[in-house]
Amino acid sequence: NSTGQQQLIALHERTRDLYHHILMNTKVGEEALNYLHDRGLTDELINEFKIGFAPNQRDFLVQVAQQDKVDTDLMERSGLFIRRDNGSYSDRFYQRVMFPLNDFRGKPIGFSGRLLKTQAYPGDDQPKYLNSPETELFNKRQVLFNFDKARNEIRKQGEAVLFEGFMDVLAAWQADIKIGLASMGTSLTEQQISAIERITGQVVIAYDGDDPGQAATDRALTLLDTHSRLNLSTVTIPEKLDPDEYLRKYGVSELQNLIHHGRQTPFAFKMYYRKKGLNLENESDRLNYLETVMQDLAKVQSPVEQDMYLGQLADEFHLSRESLKQQLNMARQTQR
Ligand code: ATP
Ligand code: MN
Ligand code: MN
Ligand code: MN
Repeated sequence: NSTGQQQLIALHERTRDLYHHILMNTKVGEEALNYLHDRGLTDELINEFKIGFAPNQRDFLVQVAQQDKVDTDLMERSGLFIRRDNGSYSDRFYQRVMFPLNDFRGKPIGFSGRLLKTQAYPGDDQPKYLNSPETELFNKRQVLFNFDKARNEIRKQGEAVLFEGFMDVLAAWQADIKIGLASMGTSLTEQQISAIERITGQVVIAYDGDDPGQAATDRALTLLDTHSRLNLSTVTIPEKLDPDEYLRKYGVSELQNLIHHGRQTPFAFKMYYRKKGLNLENESDRLNYLETVMQDLAKVQSPVEQDMYLGQLADEFHLSRESLKQQLNMARQTQR
């Protein structure tokens, strides 16, 4: 670890602590603190994750850096500033709730900042979440939100739960599910998967219940399918809610119940997901569905599991097991 990197981490620590102080102890942070309280976050959690607030002032951090005599090279490499055309600097983050993003050791290496309002004003092109840019410290393909805090608990409990957003990880944390991880709004990467694989063999995917979340679940399963050592399951959040919204609507024990007892096998998820957009009353849709689903079933390793679902499909579509078995054999051969 070079001294340059240590200086960058120190700058992030200083920034994180300042933003956190503003949120917790100042008038400027009051609206943001109320916003987080309204969203159900406790002070205990806000302190644990060192959530903060970047004030609505474009040169807040610039002034701090100048007082601290941070050199411009370091400022530029940190990703926390934007260089204007005239060579001066401004803060990248302002008027945002700040979530520190840590490396696997727990050192802050970037931020994600959320707008206070749920929706941007019309004509306002500000993204809801703004992440640090890629820097020598921060590579969003490598970061897993909460990995540093969850690692020991994941080892102990023997499983990890993957969420889509970090508000979901925080909601789960408040519901005493402390094994939640989230990628940075991107689909899962190989680096993230191998980090998870190093600490557990069991992964639960609990993405948002809306269409994009379900599509992301399908993609994650395809990705994770090549990692045969991982035991996978999925949870579908009802009413197209995300885990955080579900907690707010139904409470802690319902979310716990869903995450612990609402699990499906990857193939059960696919059987359900492949029905979307099809009309199974229609013969060609039905055939289409069965062919796709048999391709999925051919990838299932366990013969017992295969046989179980074969039986289910035979019953559901009033087909003989024999014809389905033949279809399965054909699907197996085309996959080699
Ligand atoms: P909230 O509950 O605060 O609205 P969320 O976690 O439900 O947040 P989603 O819209 O479901 O947010 O997005 C999931 C994740 O995708 C977020 O946690 C964030 O990491 C990322 N994300 C969402 N919107 C953006 C954006 N505009 N730019 C970059 N990343 C984003
Ligand atoms: Mn979403
Ligand atoms: Mn969401
Ligand atoms: Mn949400």
